[in-house]
Amino acid sequence: MGNVLIEPVDILKVTGLMGKTTDAGGKSHRDELVLVALGGLGEIGMNAYLYGFGPPKARKWLLVDLGITFPEGEFDPGVDVILPDLRFLIEERHALVGIVLTHAHEDHIGAVIDLWPKLEAPIYATPFTAGMLKAKAAEFGGRVKLPINVMPMGSRQNIGPFEIELVTMSHSIPEPSAIAIRTPAGLVLHSGDWKLDQTPYVGDPPNEARLAEIGREGVRALICDSTNAMREGRSPSELEIAQSLTEIVKKATKRVVVTSFSSNVARVKAVADAAVASGRTLVVAGRALHRVIEVARETGYLPVDLRYVDQQQFKYVNRNDVVLLCTGSQGEPRAAMARIADKEHPDIHLAKGDLVIFSSRTIPGNERSVGRIQNALVRMGCEVVTDAEALVHVTGHPRRDELRQMYQWIKPQVAVPMHGEARHINAHAELARAAGVPIVMPAYNGQMVRLSPDPVEIIDDVPVGRLFRDGRLIVPSDSGPVRNRRKLAIVGMVVVAIAMTRKGEVLCDPEIALDGVPEFDADGDEMFDIAADAVDGTLDSMPAKKLKEVEVVREAVRRSVRAAVFEAWGKKPVVKVLISVVDG
Ligand SMILES: [Zn+2]
Ligand SMILES: [Zn+2]
Repeated sequence: MGNVLIEPVDILKVTGLMGKTTDAGGKSHRDELVLVALGGLGEIGMNAYLYGFGPPKARKWLLVDLGITFPEGEFDPGVDVILPDLRFLIEERHALVGIVLTHAHEDHIGAVIDLWPKLEAPIYATPFTAGMLKAKAAEFGGRVKLPINVMPMGSRQNIGPFEIELVTMSHSIPEPSAIAIRTPAGLVLHSGDWKLDQTPYVGDPPNEARLAEIGREGVRALICDSTNAMREGRSPSELEIAQSLTEIVKKATKRVVVTSFSSNVARVKAVADAAVASGRTLVVAGRALHRVIEVARETGYLPVDLRYVDQQQFKYVNRNDVVLLCTGSQGEPRAAMARIADKEHPDIHLAKGDLVIFSSRTIPGNERSVGRIQNALVRMGCEVVTDAEALVHVTGHPRRDELRQMYQWIKPQVAVPMHGEARHINAHAELARAAGVPIVMPAYNGQMVRLSPDPVEIIDDVPVGRLFRDGRLIVPSDSGPVRNRRKLAIVGMVVVAIAMTRKGEVLCDPEIALDGVPEFDADGDEMFDIAADAVDGTLDSMPAKKLKEVEVVREAVRRSVRAAVFEAWGKKPVVKVLISVVDG
């Protein structure tokens, strides 16, 4: 790259690009194009990007993606998934004209089933993405009928004041699309998740010619994937992974097990092809894989006659004649891989000499659970192969050379790095500046960026946050039950139940229950007795008048039990005091 200019851009003072000034009351201020992320800027996950067009008080909104992120088990105990807090958009939902989905990964569509009822806008997606969403809705969201408009790859659609065009990309799932969003205030290219892979193994290669044409048309802003912005070079192709997997499977002498992200249809096909090439029978285990295979067959990404058998057949296939493809590459405790490693799978048992391939990358936060499973497999005598030992996985996101290529095609006036944590966004911003983008505008969730007209700047802050899916319910993350659960996970709890009359007489010995608290202190005294003594001591020492005041009794007992257990244990448990007052 010849003309490298790295200069910090003062984000609030960039001017002049569109040649229009925005003096107070000036007409050019009226129709603005803005972007605000409700998730995805500052994190990898929970993508939800909101584009707004119109005068500031009457904007129409287009939502691009509505995904989830996964909890870090110990910090968010009992949380299944994390969803974006859409309170801003819910207030504006009268102005929401549509929801466009770039591809079917959970971090882009995973919140649709839970949150669509609060938005009720039409959904636009390609056939595979729509198929995945419908299959999931049928399995989990029975009651919700989603109004999905299926858009062919590469097609165009008017949605309110936005004209959108899908541009075929490659990624690690079929039908990833970049979205060209045309408005009277300019054209935005929202890249979605992408890489440049001319041999993606399933589906079409990225439409590079169309990207270059869009660049020539003139792009106001490029909103682009930052996941691999810190990695030099280009990402390898899915074809190379398929070839490598075939070589490895051919050389194996005992059972072969491959675990991968279930939505990676190219990888499913690569494993199926490796089985055929080595004369082995393919066995598939895991519900998510069956769902993906079904949708991929319906949409033409896997052959209708793809040959595989169900997990129940595993035990009937000879040890050197089987390739098992299973879920659980991220260490998910209920998925097939974890149950196999723990010898708890009803149909699948491995033994010394079997080969297990993790055809995946361990997502940060899952290292420990994946490591635990790999250790269990090694102890069993299996050989474990990961992407550290062999070419068995490749990223779906652009490395730096691919990003540079994109900036060469698109030549945007404005760049906003997305789909990244702060360090990815920062690295991407520097790359964009070096690529000659005049205005580079790193932004984070909730910051509303005016993309057009000038000046490009952060014009507002909208409320954002996280919601937890906790069993069947969606609960707040900051004030909800999980906050208390974190505390309970560390200290345990003591419950005291007291029955009293209105006159303040204690009717019988209080009931005490301890949970998650040590049974004995260092001297061998029972913690139960320590708590009981504290309760009795408090009740005995309270003046008769005070004993008539339930709240006073409750608080005094709570404090004394907490103090006594702390004295013995060195930790303060949660103490709950229940008082039943009876007449008499
Ligand atoms: Zn993706
Ligand atoms: Zn993603």
